[in-house]
Amino acid sequence: MGMRMNVESFNLDHRAVVAPYVRVADRKQLPGGDTLIKYDVRFKQPNREHLEMPAIHSIEHLTAELMRNHTELLVDFSPMGCQTGFYAIMLGVELDEFLALLETSFRDLLAAEAVPAANEEQCGWGENHSLAAAKREVQAFLDARDAWQQVFADATA
Ligand SMILES: [Zn+2]
Repeated sequence: MGMRMNVESFNLDHRAVVAPYVRVADRKQLPGGDTLIKYDVRFKQPNREHLEMPAIHSIEHLTAELMRNHTELLVDFSPMGCQTGFYAIMLGVELDEFLALLETSFRDLLAAEAVPAANEEQCGWGENHSLAAAKREVQAFLDARDAWQQVFADATA
């Protein structure tokens, strides 16, 4: 890769990672002393596969809502434009605690009976959802729970 770029993930070699995984993408110390931690929650192998839009959209809605049943420290949960995963921004939640929260929230998602706010009043594309596809993708991600912390093919990287 060439010049160092401003965006952390633009400096990540996406050919070297092995999805699914979860990694810390960024940490920011706030003026008051708190720390924002940004997580890369990668479902799909970059440039090989991706989440379909209704699935990624419904996972976004469900997780953004359900994780907040378990923590007040979730600042944002948003899909990546490449549709291979999500970014979660947490207020001072370190990796082990975040992984437990993610697992709990995704197990809640599997039990959900509807996608929250999937309508024209509460969403910018209320028809573009699939609860079934969201559950399928999240089940596959949970099935790989033991691999979440292996980010690179070469474990020494
Ligand atoms: Zn929406």
